[in-house]
Amino acid sequence: MSSTKDGTMIILSSPSGAGKTTLVKLLSKKKNYHISISHTTRKPRQNETDGKDYFFTDEKKFKDLINKGEFLEYAKVFNNFYGTALPPVQSKLNKGEDVIFDIDWQGTQQIKDKKLKYKLITFFVLPPSKEVLFERLSNRDMKDKVIVEERMKEFNKDVLHWKNYDYVVINDKLEDCFNEICSLIKSKKNEIKDNYSSSFIEEHVNKLIT
Ligand code: 5GP
Repeated sequence: MSSTKDGTMIILSSPSGAGKTTLVKLLSKKKNYHISISHTTRKPRQNETDGKDYFFTDEKKFKDLINKGEFLEYAKVFNNFYGTALPPVQSKLNKGEDVIFDIDWQGTQQIKDKKLKYKLITFFVLPPSKEVLFERLSNRDMKDKVIVEERMKEFNKDVLHWKNYDYVVINDKLEDCFNEICSLIKSKKNEIKDNYSSSFIEEHVNKLIT
């Protein structure tokens, strides 16, 4: 049972390029949520800093951390390992601070299965259209066509996981999506009824994958 003094875990997942990382940074800046910094074996992108965006590590070190039981969750995504170390997250939550996670559906499922004592709110972020997704992926610093194509292919598979999340939000206008997430977090944290409805999501997903 979560104590009212404990912090809340807020997860944002999405197919790559839906704008989730921007939302996570905005939520952290405006709402003071701590971002959980993951470990990854992926190489840093041009604008990324070790210890700020990720803890960049090699596969050997990552596997050592797995063997030591350091991870709350970990997964292989696009041929690289990504994982969340438990101790820093736990210490924030125990102090009553909220922690936000930018992780994929595999990690979300692992965290849900662990049934920790902390309150957990999960969001799945969708792009408004496949065209916008392609544009967003192509505009990233990496500008690597092979990666963009690989991630577009993954999209149709990844998007199907929306059903395992508390809320699905469409990131068309960043500010609107941010406000929607904030309002849903507020309702869920305070156990107030919200007016969220997922009835239109299935239709939106079908449009995205055809
Ligand atoms: P990127 O390489 O674009 O930064 O991230 C690729 C994917 O890995 C994204 O969907 C991101 O949410 C996910 N990811 C980042 N960190 C973690 C993590 O610690 N665990 C899991 N399971 N996924 C992560």
